[in-house]
Amino acid sequence: QLVAIHPDDFRAEKLIGKKLKTPLFEKEVRIVGDKNVDPDFGSGIVMICSIGDKDDLEWILKYKLKIEKGIDEEGRMTGLCGKYRGMKVSDARKAIIDDMKKQGLLIKQEGLEQSIGTCWRCHTPVEFLVMPQWFLKTVQFKEKMLKEIEKLDWKPRFMKRRLQDWINSLSWDWVISRQRYFATPIPIWECKKCGNIVVAKKNECYVDPTIMDKECPECRTTMKGCEDVFDTWMDSSISPLFNTCWERNPDLFKKLYPMSLRPQAHDIIRTWAFYTILRGILLTNKLPFKTIMVDGFVLAPDGKPMHASLGNVIDPLKILEKYGSDAFRYYAATCAVGEDNSFREKDVIHGMRLCTKLWNVSSFVKKIIDGKKIVLEKSRLKIMDRWILSKYSKVVENATEYMDEFRFDKAMKEIEEFLWHEFADHYIEIVKHRAYDNDESAISTLYTVCSGVVKLMAPMMPHIAEEIYTMNFKDAEGDPSIHISSWPKPVLTDEDAERKGELVKEIVSKIRGWKSEKGMSLSKEIDFVELVCEPEKIIECKEDIARTVRAKELVVAEKENLKENLVAVKPVYSKIGPVFKGKAEEIVEKLKTIDVGKLSEDEVNVRLDSGETVKLTKDFINFEKTVTVKGKKVDVLNIGDTVALIGRV
Ligand SMILES: [Zn+2]
Ligand SMILES: [Zn+2]
Repeated sequence: QLVAIHPDDFRAEKLIGKKLKTPLFEKEVRIVGDKNVDPDFGSGIVMICSIGDKDDLEWILKYKLKIEKGIDEEGRMTGLCGKYRGMKVSDARKAIIDDMKKQGLLIKQEGLEQSIGTCWRCHTPVEFLVMPQWFLKTVQFKEKMLKEIEKLDWKPRFMKRRLQDWINSLSWDWVISRQRYFATPIPIWECKKCGNIVVAKKNECYVDPTIMDKECPECRTTMKGCEDVFDTWMDSSISPLFNTCWERNPDLFKKLYPMSLRPQAHDIIRTWAFYTILRGILLTNKLPFKTIMVDGFVLAPDGKPMHASLGNVIDPLKILEKYGSDAFRYYAATCAVGEDNSFREKDVIHGMRLCTKLWNVSSFVKKIIDGKKIVLEKSRLKIMDRWILSKYSKVVENATEYMDEFRFDKAMKEIEEFLWHEFADHYIEIVKHRAYDNDESAISTLYTVCSGVVKLMAPMMPHIAEEIYTMNFKDAEGDPSIHISSWPKPVLTDEDAERKGELVKEIVSKIRGWKSEKGMSLSKEIDFVELVCEPEKIIECKEDIARTVRAKELVVAEKENLKENLVAVKPVYSKIGPVFKGKAEEIVEKLKTIDVGKLSEDEVNVRLDSGETVKLTKDFINFEKTVTVKGKKVDVLNIGDTVALIGRV
């Protein structure tokens, strides 16, 4: 219909204002000058006919050209195309090239790289069709939308930017009609005679206009019901309004709207989020929700999106079957909100192990608390119990803060670390003996911490949490389900107990580590342990330590009472060999029989059979000593400023 050339093009002067004839069709077409033509693209001359993309439409609207339809809904050429009518697009292309060749019009034919729209499923190139559509006014609300989305609480915050960019890029209104068989009908009637348009009244909805006749109120002829259906986002964007009973139950709507949360993924920010907010604002003048949580994707283990065609799809049902839903949910909780994550099966396995750990801990606690709830005041609690309760209280505080910020990964980590590496690994080991003796301070603490941890984990691992709650705490707590019970609160802060507790924890784990090194079982008794430190630091926990490390006797002393005795000199083979070469073997032999009672600790003189004396400095030998306390042999362990002397068994 039109040919355009850039006015600065050297050919422009000759061409602008003239007419040309198109090949094959012999149609006369005007040539215009237009600064929007890119002289460097292709031939530098633009041909404007029907619509191949959005740019074409802009040319057509600018020059007020007729919108012509060259391809029909079945993908065949229309009557506009003369002898090519009825051909498929690809066949018509071939036929046109053949005809141009026959008439000698084709000068050159070459490959060209272009980006074109294709079907996302089968990659067939997409052709644009000109169709009448229904639009919802959108562009005029851009500023309002930009202002409103500032009031939303975005989790994570950076996702707001994506919607801002989308709104700023909008240049067209929202096409709300589709030509499909199944979807929501558009409740509109059109009068073919006078052009009148009638929208269904509220009390007529829900209505399919194609099966309900309406008379035109203007000219009294029967109108035609709209055969189009709504864009799917027209339905889904009304979900908060529908779910809060908008226009159906005003009292409930007032109570429920706006909703507290919209959870969704980042791929539908420009659709679901945008349209829902738009319609909420337009229909109620309010945002439809207060907070929007935008999640990332779970990608295939190779980091690519999962696609059946790539063969990298993980079937979630199989994962659930294999590891259980709580383990799978644990994995999901470890993914930061808004970030895409490659699927990590090992994290699901870890989640399963965490379930087992939680179950074992809870089974122990069940035995101890025996269905009863004992909660003592702070003043009646022992140091180690105050230690774990103070640490637990910090976990509650931090996890709650993380949960409020939707940082489920951080909350999960905080809770897990505490459960596994403080409560299970240390506290329970230290408190076991008291718990079995029905010590109320221990029972009270086990109850508080275990019930609290299970509640903290309930949002992430709801099934095992409910099971443990039912098994251990339901009778005493009274709430029929953990998921409607109250969220745990911090219990106490006790910095003094925390300092002392940490030291006790260190002492116990050092001594237990020493046992493992010596190949002893942890339940093996030790003759005696002497702890050298300011007694005030640990004196209250003396019994807890003694019984946990199974020391027959435990003394806390302010001063070391040690005596060191040299018992042997051991050669450092790696040093002696290279230096003394042929004599090395003899030196090692002589060291075995040397009289240690007469040695100084700096060096050793070894007299060889040849009469030569070899001087061995500290680099070549190690002095082996024993330490004794009041005549008993002991091993020495350093734990910060504290020294533990352990009676040899
Ligand atoms: Zn397709
Ligand atoms: Zn009419």
